[in-house]
Amino acid sequence: MSTPRILHLGPLSERFNRALAERHGAVALWLQADPQAFLREHGGEFELLVSSARFGCSAEQLACLPNLKAICSFGVGYDPYPLDLLRDRGIALSTTPDVLNDCVADLALGLMIDSARRLAAADRFVRAGSWLGSSFPLTRKVSGKKLGIVGYGRIGQAIARRAEGFAMPVRYHQRKENPASPHGYEADLLALARWADFLVLACPGGATTHHLIGAEVLAALGPQGILVNIARGSVVDQTALVEALLAGTLGGAGLDVFEAEPQVPEALFALPNVVLLPHVGSGTEETRLQMEELVLANLQAFIDKGELLTPL
Ligand code: NAP
Repeated sequence: MSTPRILHLGPLSERFNRALAERHGAVALWLQADPQAFLREHGGEFELLVSSARFGCSAEQLACLPNLKAICSFGVGYDPYPLDLLRDRGIALSTTPDVLNDCVADLALGLMIDSARRLAAADRFVRAGSWLGSSFPLTRKVSGKKLGIVGYGRIGQAIARRAEGFAMPVRYHQRKENPASPHGYEADLLALARWADFLVLACPGGATTHHLIGAEVLAALGPQGILVNIARGSVVDQTALVEALLAGTLGGAGLDVFEAEPQVPEALFALPNVVLLPHVGSGTEETRLQMEELVLANLQAFIDKGELLTPL
C-alpha cells in the first residue's frame, strides 16, 4: 500500500512544520508560489490534510480535494470546518481535545481574577509612576462569588473544578443537562446570567452559538457582573458588549477571543475593567507541544490503521 500524500494547509510552529515535512513529506500549501492554483492543479493527489482551528478548511478548498479521507486539526474548535460537507463525503476529522483543558481553564481563572482585581490595570498604574502620587482604586472580590459557565464540557468542567478552590458556587448552562455533574444545571441562560457574578463562556463557536450572548444576557449579568470569554468571539454580540461596557451596564470583561481577530474594538482600550488577550488560551510551550504530538499521532494512526485517535 502506498503512503498517502499529506497537504499542510497553514503554518504552525517551525518545529511542527519541519516534523511534518521531514517525517511525512507533507506539502506546505502556503509555501507554493500560487497556493490556489496549486490546490486546483494538485488537490486530487492528497488523501490527508493537516490544518488547525485557525485555518480550518473551506468548502471551496474541499472541492479541490476530491480524494481527501481525513483531516487532522490542531486545536479543539471545529467551527471553521463545514461539518455537513465532511459528513456527506465521509471525511474524518480529528481535533486535539483534553490536552489543552488545563491551560485554557487556567487562563479563564486568570481572566476572572484580572478583570475583577484589575491586575493588568494595576501593573500599568505602577509602570506609569502613578503609585507615587495616589493609591490604586479598590476592586472587586473573586472568592465566594457565583460562577455561571456556558458550555460545561471538558474545559467548562476544568474551570468549575478550579473555582471550587475559590469557594465559588457554580451553575452551568448548555443544551443538555450533565447528570454526573456536582453543579446545578440552568436550562435558562438569562436566569443563569441574572444569578451569576461571573459568566464564563466555554462552548463551541459556529452557527448554533452565534451571538448567544446578546444585549439581554449582558443586561441580566448587570453592572457588577463580569463576562469572561475563552470560547469564540462569535458567541458574543460584540457591538452589544462594547455598548454595555461603555455604558457601565456590565461590570467588566475578560476576553481572549474576538469576532474579527486580530481586530479588537479600540473603544475598549481605555477601559480599566476590561482585559484583552490575543487568543492565547492554549498558548504555553507545554500544551502546544502536546497538541502537536496529538496531531502527529492522529496522522500516524490514520496512515497505519485508517482510524483517527481523537475523531470529532
Ligand atoms: P466540549 O468538551 O465539546 O464542550 C463544549 C460544551 O459546550 C458541551 O458541553 C456542549 O453541551 C456545550 N454547547 C454546545 N453547543 C451549545 C449551545 N448551543 N449552547 C450552550 N452550550 C453549548 O469542548 P471543549 O473541549 O470544552 O472546548 C470548548 C470550546 O472552547 C471549543 O469549541 C473552542 O471554541 C474553545 N476553545 C478556546 C480556546 C482558546 O484558546 N481560547 C482553546 C481551546 C478551546 P451541549 O451539547 O449539551 O450543549
